[in-house]
Amino acid sequence: MDKKRLEQFKKRLETRQQELRRLVSRNVQDGRAADEQAAQDIADKAANSYTKEFLFHQSHNDRQLLQLVEDALERIRAGSYGECVNCGHELNAKRLDAVPWTRYCINCQEKVEQGLLEESSI
Ligand SMILES: [Zn+2]
Repeated sequence: MDKKRLEQFKKRLETRQQELRRLVSRNVQDGRAADEQAAQDIADKAANSYTKEFLFHQSHNDRQLLQLVEDALERIRAGSYGECVNCGHELNAKRLDAVPWTRYCINCQEKVEQGLLEESSI
């Protein structure tokens, strides 16, 4: 991949990384605020635990995505960005454009979704 294109992906990934970091830390704070409110009003307890559960799942997804984005930035540093982490084939340019933290080529992604391939962290 040429340097200019790589630089563009890096910028997009870094922007996303910052957004996600903000989201993840805000969710932690919201969770704490929900705790404090619950201590004040027991009637709201059910609503509160629902809110906390929602926030937990939300931040879990954000965290997972953040991990994928950070892995992608790591691959840029390692010089392996744009290749499938499983088979090493070059990733489809459109696919990479749509989802810059993509790790797998289409073939390997299908295998992952069918449970035929163990997901690796990088
Ligand atoms: Zn592959």
